[in-house]
Amino acid sequence: MNSTYLDYNATAPLRPEARAALLAALEAPANPSSVHRFGRAARGIADTARGQVAALVGAEARRVVFTSGGTEANNLALRLAVEAAGAKSLVVAAIEHDSVLRPARHLAERAGLPLYEVLAGADGVVSVAAIAATLGAAQSAHPGPALVALMLANNETGAIQPVAEAAQLAHAHQSLLLCDAVQAAGKIPVDLARLDADFLTLSAHKLGGPTGAGALVARDDWAPAPLLRGGGQEKGMRAGTENLPGIAGFGAAAAAAQAGLYAMKTVAGLRDRLQAGLLAACPEAPVYGTGPRLPNTLCIGMPGVPAETQVMALDLAGVAVSAGSACSSGKVTPSHVLLAMGLPEAAAREAVRFSLGWASTAADVDRALEAWTVLWRRKRK
Ligand code: PLP
Repeated sequence: MNSTYLDYNATAPLRPEARAALLAALEAPANPSSVHRFGRAARGIADTARGQVAALVGAEARRVVFTSGGTEANNLALRLAVEAAGAKSLVVAAIEHDSVLRPARHLAERAGLPLYEVLAGADGVVSVAAIAATLGAAQSAHPGPALVALMLANNETGAIQPVAEAAQLAHAHQSLLLCDAVQAAGKIPVDLARLDADFLTLSAHKLGGPTGAGALVARDDWAPAPLLRGGGQEKGMRAGTENLPGIAGFGAAAAAAQAGLYAMKTVAGLRDRLQAGLLAACPEAPVYGTGPRLPNTLCIGMPGVPAETQVMALDLAGVAVSAGSACSSGKVTPSHVLLAMGLPEAAAREAVRFSLGWASTAADVDRALEAWTVLWRRKRK
């Protein structure tokens, strides 16, 4: 059966440009630390990719530290904030991805670092006022700089967060801001200077690059506080021989995503058509993330039908989507994002996420629409 893939926020199909760059980087022995011509060629490939990734977010190339993905980049940012920048407390949006939430909770439990989690509004947006109140409480109880973590766009709802305002607030309080831009990059314009984030994180496979590559973009110079110690790669920030094919694919995907940003209007049109069709079939279906939203994401509930039932029924019909909350074990738990927006647990268990991208077509939307509608009519009976 040919399949309709509408799970780009989990991982996007590899772009042809990324595949070509990745395969080319596999052609010769390639250790960028080697002094000979092969090493120099490898260094050139990494430098090109560094420039492409930096350009996607309007940063200088030297600011990019390559990692194994978004998870490692977020962990590294937290490490830098605490060890290099001396953060005395953590103020983290409760809708953050687990790769921010869990290391933050680990730091709280193991290192006794005070952690404050900030809930979102019903629209999926964490308000600057809520962050300000929490940051104030954090700093009066624990004087000194805090690290504020606010993602640019949420992976489940697509809700876009007020990162530039939060960064301004953090800086006014001598604090730092970590912006997880993993889902936003390649879908909406991302400009480090405008966001003014101290740390920004990216993942290759969310924008059409390979899995296993990502980056931390730091606004300032920091003393290295690596998670992995060993060789001095990535200016001492990340030891280990670079994943050059992954990095080359990441760079090419970043360039292609940037060049293709204009096409996100078409993707938004497809997403809107899908949403309108689903709501025509079931007007009472709740749509989550009603404020500014990524152009590709639709998080919607089917009343009375568990998300895992929907995901399986759609899969049988050849349509791949996610329950927003599916964790790495594949078990579906109520989405922590929807709970942090104040949803009751029962509703949070009924939401699925459709996420489109660079290769999505009108036929994909028609097929998803039909599969979801058939299931809804069957369940309603
Ligand atoms: N941050 C967000 C918002 C994500 O959606 C994800 C992946 O789902 C990550 C971080 C982790 O990225 P990676 O899979 O590259 O580790």
